[in-house]
Amino acid sequence: MSMTIDTIGHDLHYNVWLVAKLFFDENDSVHITSKATYGDDTVTAETQLVCEGASLSETYSFPCPSSADAHTKKRLTSAVCGMSLYRAAQKLRPRRLPWGVMTGIRPAKPIRQMLTAGQPEEEILPYMHALYGASEQKLRLALEVAKNELPLIAQNGKDDIGLYIGIPFCPTRCLYCSFVSTDLRRTKQYVPEYLRLLVREIEHSARLTKAAGKRIQSIYIGGGTPTSITAQELEVLLAAVARCFDTGSLAEYCVEAGRPDTITPEKLSVLKQYGVTRISINPQTMHARTLELIGRSHTPDDIDNAFTLARRAGFDSINADLIAGLPGETEDDFAWTLKAIDAYGPENITVHTMSIKRGSALHERLGDYDLTTPDTVYNMLDLSQSFMAQTGRAPYYIYRQKNMLGNLENVGYSLPGHESLYNVNIMEEVQSILALGCGGSSKAVDRTGERIERVYNFKGPIEYITRFDEILAKKDEFFSLLDG
Ligand code: SF4
Repeated sequence: MSMTIDTIGHDLHYNVWLVAKLFFDENDSVHITSKATYGDDTVTAETQLVCEGASLSETYSFPCPSSADAHTKKRLTSAVCGMSLYRAAQKLRPRRLPWGVMTGIRPAKPIRQMLTAGQPEEEILPYMHALYGASEQKLRLALEVAKNELPLIAQNGKDDIGLYIGIPFCPTRCLYCSFVSTDLRRTKQYVPEYLRLLVREIEHSARLTKAAGKRIQSIYIGGGTPTSITAQELEVLLAAVARCFDTGSLAEYCVEAGRPDTITPEKLSVLKQYGVTRISINPQTMHARTLELIGRSHTPDDIDNAFTLARRAGFDSINADLIAGLPGETEDDFAWTLKAIDAYGPENITVHTMSIKRGSALHERLGDYDLTTPDTVYNMLDLSQSFMAQTGRAPYYIYRQKNMLGNLENVGYSLPGHESLYNVNIMEEVQSILALGCGGSSKAVDRTGERIERVYNFKGPIEYITRFDEILAKKDEFFSLLDG
């Protein structure tokens, strides 16, 4: 894309670019001038858009008290500049954009903050619609999520933190994956050393947790696919966690058993023995041809077997991840997957929107696949929303990613009492998270929830192993950032 952006009266170049990207791609030649002015408790944006020989201008104003702090002023200016560009671009390239110019990844967060500040519900949606141009349907979804989050967040104690442990290995690599997961067929030899060092990191972090007077409220072991290592290796990991932290008083202990073909009675028994309360079995789709196309090494029968084994082992809180918009799938295919998964009675279902991530094999070879259109994905998500309501599952966390088809969302639905506290806390950034192993980042959230400092982990196991001393130093850094 040949895009040039001039800003006048503000420096939110990146925010303007994010909105422009909703309309234009690398084949377009676009010039945008975005100007912001302030006065009479309002902020006004004027956008001039030049593209394809057309020159379009739009102006948009919104209340912005002159007493507003710098953060609020920036947020409002960004939205208003986005809205004036959105209006101009819609004239040239009409697009269905249910989230309007909301480009952030946490759409429920501002709504929850307004609810917490005592703003009446009936004022929140019109305000958000006017500020971001988001549809009533999406704002209602975000409002429902925000309301469901509040009692969960209220459970957080002032010294509670969440613990994440990353296992960066998977049996194969999915077509759409850009995570730092490594294909075990090539990286098996790193597993023992990775685990040996991870146990050292756990021991070090446990000492720091105790010294800081913090309590681990929830544990999430993710990746990757933690259950892709052997039952014995899993036991080494879980035994270290149990030895170092007080797992008896956890509110939640979740392990991603994402690939159904990695689940065995022995591994489930290890998880049970060490007090794991929740697992995630991720079918993504119930269609064998799609599973093969996207490079997952399991079949629908493996999914069936995994649910049977997990129930037999006594797991009564299971999440199932699905993806709307997998290549080649129709609305009927998706509807069938929803029903087939529901038959296993997972207490949580998380519906993701297909995202074309840079670094994925799909992104490299886009032309080889029959991608779902944005309209079809909208319909799939609508269908999932009503299906979940009919089956008693309420939306309780929501997030968005870059490059999602239709610029839509991922939503976690749950039966009452089975919501994942960890998911809510990390998504809403209301609790500090200590992240061990590969991938992810530790987040130190201050008491006001306004200041967040991140300490990034290394991405892959080789870097983790060869630079392990830095890992321990990163933990020291994280604890120095926590509130006393
Ligand atoms: S299971 Fe998840 S982490 Fe593993 S390859 Fe697939 S998308 Fe990546």
